[in-house]
Amino acid sequence: MKTIGLLGGMSWESTVSYYRALNEGVKAALGGLHSAKLCLYSVDFAEIERLQHAGDWAATAEILSHAARRVEAGGADFLLIGTNTMHKVAPQIAEAISIPLLHIADATAQRLANDGIRRVGLLGTRFTMEQDFYKGRIAEDFGIEVLVPHAEQRDLVHEVIYTELCLGEVKEVSRQRYLEIIQSLRERGAEAVILGCTEIALLVEQRHTEVPLYDTTAIHAEEAVRWALEE
Ligand code: GLU
Repeated sequence: MKTIGLLGGMSWESTVSYYRALNEGVKAALGGLHSAKLCLYSVDFAEIERLQHAGDWAATAEILSHAARRVEAGGADFLLIGTNTMHKVAPQIAEAISIPLLHIADATAQRLANDGIRRVGLLGTRFTMEQDFYKGRIAEDFGIEVLVPHAEQRDLVHEVIYTELCLGEVKEVSRQRYLEIIQSLRERGAEAVILGCTEIALLVEQRHTEVPLYDTTAIHAEEAVRWALEE
């Protein structure tokens, strides 16, 4: 079994989900007392969040590149960045290490493509929904059209991520707002919706809606387990 490298803490609420999913995946595949070999570097999210909102992506890339090198030195065979948003600096992080990076958007888009989805809605931080590093990759590399919520819906989705979900707060009122936004993406033609922020599945699960949901945390972790167990 290969050792999985994970950059976590963005936020740690979702790193808990990753840790559980990676171990459950290995246990499901190998049984008994088997668990994932992994090397986790968890950052202080307050520092990252401040730099994101100040637009200092170069500084975030430096912090995460340093962390990624430590994960590689710790014995990881490949790397996961446990957040969609910070894939904005995935090229700089990949450049800093010599182990492969398992990109969260590629894992998710491959799953969509396998399921024959041609048009998908995307929920995430404003950075993920509005910039091109994520939806551009899905559109260009996989030929899948990406719809994002309208401006005021994007503000709501973003605010709930930073002021509730990353703090471990799950509120029914926010769940209802998210479900309305998912429904409106559906009405605009989305065949499915990407939960493109690693905390969203703490709020919205498949049992809450008939619209097919693609949880990036779960998909990323499943693909990592596949890589870890591959010969
Ligand atoms: N975990 C979130 C994501 O997947 C948001 C936190 C962050 O900005 O990294 O985008």
